[in-house]
Amino acid sequence: MARIVGIDLGTTNSLIAYMHDQAPRVIAGRNGRTLVPSVVAMMDNSLIVGDPAKEHLVRNPERTIYSVKRFMGKGLEDVAEELKYFPYRLTEQGGVIRIQIGEKTYSPPQISAMILKELKHRAEAHFGEDISKAVITVPAYFNDSQRQATKDAGTIAGLEVLRIINEPTAASLAYGLQEHTQGTIAVYDLGGGTFDISILKLKDGIFEVLATNGNTHLGGDDFDRRVADVIIQELREQHRFDPEQHPDTMQSIRLEAERTKVRLSEDQKAMLTIELPSETGQYRREFTRDQLEALTRDLVEQTLGPCRQALNDADLQPSDIDEVILVGGSTRMPLVRQRIQELFGTIPHCELNPDEVVALGAAVQADILSGATQDLLLLDVTPLSLGIETMGGVVSPLIRRNTTIPASAKELFTTYVDGQTSVDIHVLQGERELAKDTRSLARFQLKVPPLPAGVPRVEVMFLIDANGILNVTAKDVRTGQVQSIEVKPSYGLSDEEVERMISESFKFAAEDLKARQLIEARTEAEAIHKATQKALSLGGHLINAEEKAAIQESLATLETARTGEDHRVIRARIADVEKATHHLAEVLMDTTLKEALQNKKLTEIF
Ligand code: AMP
Repeated sequence: MARIVGIDLGTTNSLIAYMHDQAPRVIAGRNGRTLVPSVVAMMDNSLIVGDPAKEHLVRNPERTIYSVKRFMGKGLEDVAEELKYFPYRLTEQGGVIRIQIGEKTYSPPQISAMILKELKHRAEAHFGEDISKAVITVPAYFNDSQRQATKDAGTIAGLEVLRIINEPTAASLAYGLQEHTQGTIAVYDLGGGTFDISILKLKDGIFEVLATNGNTHLGGDDFDRRVADVIIQELREQHRFDPEQHPDTMQSIRLEAERTKVRLSEDQKAMLTIELPSETGQYRREFTRDQLEALTRDLVEQTLGPCRQALNDADLQPSDIDEVILVGGSTRMPLVRQRIQELFGTIPHCELNPDEVVALGAAVQADILSGATQDLLLLDVTPLSLGIETMGGVVSPLIRRNTTIPASAKELFTTYVDGQTSVDIHVLQGERELAKDTRSLARFQLKVPPLPAGVPRVEVMFLIDANGILNVTAKDVRTGQVQSIEVKPSYGLSDEEVERMISESFKFAAEDLKARQLIEARTEAEAIHKATQKALSLGGHLINAEEKAAIQESLATLETARTGEDHRVIRARIADVEKATHHLAEVLMDTTLKEALQNKKLTEIF
C-alpha cells in the first residue's frame, strides 16, 4: 500500500505529517523547521516557496503571494473588501480569481499547488520515495467550490487527494478523540490572522460539525499591533522620533512586538530593544505579562462572543462541552487559555503543539485510510447509494452515492399488514429505483409484536465506517429489540462495475422513476383504502349518512384509479379520499387511524 500523508494547507503556514509507530509526526525541512510559510515568490527566473520567499514580502511585494487560501474557490466580488490589503494584483476570468504576476496570471489552486509541491518534496526527501497520495484539511466553513479548489490544487501538485477533512475534525483526531464513542467537542482556533470556533459532535466514531463561527480579521497580528502602538507612541513622545517615516523601523517594531508577546506567554517580564536610525540611538523598554494582558484583554473577549453564538446555534450550554481543543499559535497565551476555561468550565486540551495539531490529525486520517484492506475499494465517498427495500419492491435510499465516509443515516419505517410478527430488512446497493435492479447485499429479520399495520416503529440505521464497512441495525422502538448485520458494500465490485451501475441508473432514470412513482402511489392507495374502511367500521356512527356515502364514493373512484398506470391520477384520488374523510378523522379517537387517514404515515417494509 502506497504511503498516504496528511497536509495542513494553512493561510499563513502549511505542514506535512505522517504516521510513525502509531503516533503522528510532522516532517521538518532541512532548516529543522516544521512550518512552511504559505508564501510564494515568483521571480523572473525562479520560484521561491516558504521561508526564503518571506524575505520577498518586503522586497518584491507585487510578485510575492501570501494568504492565497483566502481566494480559493472564490470570485473577485467575494473578496472586494479585502483587496486593499493585498499588494499583488488580482483579476478575474470566468468568475474565478486570477493572480497577476507580470504578464502571466495564475489561479489560486495553481499557487496552492506550489506550496503543496514543496511539502511533497519535503516528504519525498524524508522517505526517499515518491509520495502521491494525501489527505488535506480545510476550514469547516469551506463550501463545495472551496473544497474542490483545494482538491484541484492537490491534483496540480501531483497528489491524489483521498480525502478533504475539516480542520477541527483533524484536531480532534490528533487527540484520539474518535476512540471515545460519544461526546461534544469545541475546537478553538486562534491563529495569526483569523479566529474560528467549531462545535463538533462525536457519535460512533463520526464527527459531525454542529456549528461554526469566528472572525476572519482577528488573530495574533492584532495583539502585536497593540504592543507596537505603545512603542510608536512612546517613540514619538519621549524620543521625538516618528517611526512611521521609517519603514525599516516599523518592520523592526512589528517583529519585536511579536517576539515580546511570545516571550510573555512563558515569562512574566520581557525586555524589548529597538535600534533606531543612527542619530537617535536605541529604544529599550520592559513589558510585563500584566501590561500585555491589559492591552489585549478586549481582543480575547472578542473571541468569546462567537463561541457563545456557536453554542447557541448548536442548541448547547457551555457545560454540554466535554472537551475543548486548542489550535493555532495564539492559543499559547495564558489569558486566552484562562478565558476559555472560564467559559466552558473545563481545562482545554493543550498537550499537542497547537501549530501542528491539524496536520497531525490529517496524518491520523491518512493512516485510517491506508489501513483499508486490498479487497475493498479505497473509499473516500460511497461510490453507490445504499438503502433498503420497502413495500412494492421500491428502494428507500438511506445513504446516497458520493456521501463522504464515515457516514451514518437513520430512518423510521413501519409494517404494512395487521398483526405482522416480523419485518424483513433487505439491504440494497445501487442507483436504480426498484429493488430488482439493484445489488442485494444482505437480508435479515427483526421480530416485532403483532400490532395493527402502521403502528410499529422500526428504526433502521446505516453506518459506514472509514473502511467502507456497512453496519445495518434495525430496532423496534417500542420493545427495544435489535438486530444487526455487517457487510462490505464494495466487496467484489470492480471500478468498471461501479461505473456500469451508475451509468445504467442514468440510462433508465426516467422509466425507473415512473415505475417507482406508480408503485408508491398504488401502495399508498391500498393503505389509505384499508385505513378508511377500518375507520368507517369503528367511527361510521359518528358521521351522517351523506358524509358516509361521499366517502364510499371516493373509495370506489380510488379503486378504479389504482388499476390505471398514471400515478398522478392515483394521487389526486387519494387527495379526494383524504378530503372526504377529514371530518371522520377529526371525530375519531384512535390516533393511529387518524394519522393513517390523513396519510401521515411512515414507509412500510415487509
Ligand atoms: P498560526 O497561524 O497558527 O501559525 O499562529 C500564528 C500566530 O500565533 C502568530 O500571531 C504568533 O505570534 C502566535 N504565536 C505563536 N506562538 C505564540 C506564543 N507562544 N504566545 C503567543 N502567541 C504565539
